[in-house]
Amino acid sequence: MDLTPGTRALVIGGDVRAAGQIARLLADGAEVTVIAPSVTPAIEDLAGRGLISWQARDPDIDDLMGTSVVLREPADGAPADHLHRTGSVTLVGGGPGDPGLLTVAGRAAIEAADVIVADRLAPLAALAWARPGSEIIDVAKIPGGRSTSQEAINQLLVERAASGRHVVRLKGGDNHVFGRGGEELLACHRAGIETRVVPGVTSATAVPALAGIPVTHRGLAQGFAVISGHVPPGHPGSTIDYAALAASGTTIVVLMGVRTLSAICAALADGGLAADTPAAVVADGAMPSQRVVRATLATIDEAAAGIAPPAVAVIGAVADVPGLT
Ligand code: SAH
Repeated sequence: MDLTPGTRALVIGGDVRAAGQIARLLADGAEVTVIAPSVTPAIEDLAGRGLISWQARDPDIDDLMGTSVVLREPADGAPADHLHRTGSVTLVGGGPGDPGLLTVAGRAAIEAADVIVADRLAPLAALAWARPGSEIIDVAKIPGGRSTSQEAINQLLVERAASGRHVVRLKGGDNHVFGRGGEELLACHRAGIETRVVPGVTSATAVPALAGIPVTHRGLAQGFAVISGHVPPGHPGSTIDYAALAASGTTIVVLMGVRTLSAICAALADGGLAADTPAAVVADGAMPSQRVVRATLATIDEAAAGIAPPAVAVIGAVADVPGLT
């Protein structure tokens, strides 16, 4: 759909297919209102982040005047004939958010799937490629909200594949970068399920790239380290040697680090990394709402105070390459 930016769009219905339509409308720059008594977690998340407006009931007709596009959630088609077939599970890396950054092999797997098990950070617009008869399951794990345990997800993949269906496990970025892809493969192997992996474009390199930051650059960085900021330095669950990282001379890329950024920067400074080392935070990479904050190791925490996840932090000289930023 090619829309004029700012076009007002109304989506009636709140299931995961509607989420796919909404993602495409947002990518086209539309202002989206959803009307549905209840919505899938992915839509609840978009509403919570202020990217769409969701009305559970009784929309005020005056509010809807000027709406140019109205979409009803597409109905699920007839179930596929999956009996007497051997099922499989394909891990598909969805890239950082723009469906254009999903591989051709990933798209083919989505088009052929009987079941798609999708996450919050998966590019929901790519669900539009699913065949009408396919089953789409939203297992979005919203921080502090509704969630599905990893054990339940593994079980779901195995059960659906064991009943003869081709299952796509669609995640954001690459399934093997903080995506629990290995655990899901092991669960399938244990159950004797055929598996395939379609690697994805990871946000660890793609999101910095979209903000003009090359994670390596001749003369500036001969490597990069990607770390999870899920637990802060000093936490009993943290296994990262921040002093070694500070001395490594490589670019440091932090995922899941919005909450812990100040503790991570402090640990790197304690390890001897110079206070004036360039640093940047890129939020909502590859989405219409992408934004970038640039500062230094000493100041990035304060500069990025208003930033909400998902965001990637990059620390190192590459965060400020003259001529690229
Ligand atoms: N498997 C994913 C990473 C999962 S961990 C991948 O390879 O990209 C989730 C973290 O990834 C987020 O907390 C954030 O740090 C990062 N992330 C994923 N998509 C992002 C995006 N579009 N913009 C910024 N950060 C993103």
